Amino acid sequence: MIESLNRVEISRPALRHNMQLLRRMARKAGVMAMVKADGYGHGMLECARVFAGAGAAAFGVAEVVEGVTLRQAGISQPVFVLAGLLPELVPPLFDFDLTPVLVDDTLLPSLSREATRKGRSIDVHLKVDAGMGRQGCTLDQAPLVIRRIMDTPGVQLKGILAHFPMADDRDSPSTMEVLTGFTALVESLGDQLPDGLCLHIANSGGLLYFAGTRFDMVRPGISLYGCYPDGLTGRELAVGERLQPAMRFVSRVIQVKDVPAGSGLGYGHIYTTGRQTRLALLPVGYEDGYLRILSNRAEVLVHGCRAPVVGRISMNLTMVDVTDLQEVRPGDEVVLLGRQGAEEISCDEIAAWMGTINYEVLCLFGNLNRRVYMDD
Ligand SMILES: *Cc1c(COP(=O)(O)O)cnc(C)c1O
Repeated sequence: MIESLNRVEISRPALRHNMQLLRRMARKAGVMAMVKADGYGHGMLECARVFAGAGAAAFGVAEVVEGVTLRQAGISQPVFVLAGLLPELVPPLFDFDLTPVLVDDTLLPSLSREATRKGRSIDVHLKVDAGMGRQGCTLDQAPLVIRRIMDTPGVQLKGILAHFPMADDRDSPSTMEVLTGFTALVESLGDQLPDGLCLHIANSGGLLYFAGTRFDMVRPGISLYGCYPDGLTGRELAVGERLQPAMRFVSRVIQVKDVPAGSGLGYGHIYTTGRQTRLALLPVGYEDGYLRILSNRAEVLVHGCRAPVVGRISMNLTMVDVTDLQEVRPGDEVVLLGRQGAEEISCDEIAAWMGTINYEVLCLFGNLNRRVYMDD
């Protein structure tokens, strides 16, 4: 089979290492592996299989269709659907044994009706908005919604969760405020809550940076894929204690050419050579998630050395200045993200060039390119 010269490599050992490291940090709390967005660009199914093998207690997805895909692939752990719920999606929740995360009481009639029809009940969790300011019922509304859920035949309240808006910032007081509001709600309801309720609130930032956020389950996403939510690399940590980036993005040189000083390069001639220059062309561009904003800004690795991207990145072509490198030839491997030899271009570095966060870089590169899985 003929395939694109661009590929995204996903390291299964890195995914496994991250899961194991986070499980140790979670201690007694179970780990719900967040595999939405096609596993943050790493491939939902392949990641879910690795995480299941490394002890994931549950999986988190955004929409019902993702949960169905996990079930059809044989994933047997609880699967939580955290968004994208409407009454028409209630039957597949039952059929595929998915756990809906409710945000208010609007789905209760459909859930109850379907439970009666199928002759069995469904477990649900409730998401409260304890300061995120987005999805979920407010702390004030929560007691009433909880009561309604508990009074609905065929619907079993099994958990309550909240989400942190700023757990990526170790210095923000927000996380402790959200935690306090969440804890106060649970304590105020006390005996009125069902026994053995599963409480969970921590995303990667909560788990990595804030004590007392673990409760019964944690929900890491970005950290499972080897990035830190604050965009730092964890280089100060010993290798065994550090998350390992699981994604590399690799292309190939398709042409090498010499141009004289004073040459305008590519669309708009936004770069003019200041010297006789050797250019390497790569068959990668914004179509592949290597966005135009990286023009004249990014660096790539060729022969283990950094080389700057020059001129406009176009749909399928990028130019790199390799004048200072030895003997670059067509066919040579070029690394846009990840390690080559002793050098590394990190996701956080690319995110800074793009004015965004590592999450977006992983989704872009991973979901727009052919993925291959590496086992060593
Ligand atoms: C995506 C998501 C997470 C994971 O967040 P990370 O910052 O990637 O660890 C946790 N909880 C909820 C509700 C989410 O939507």
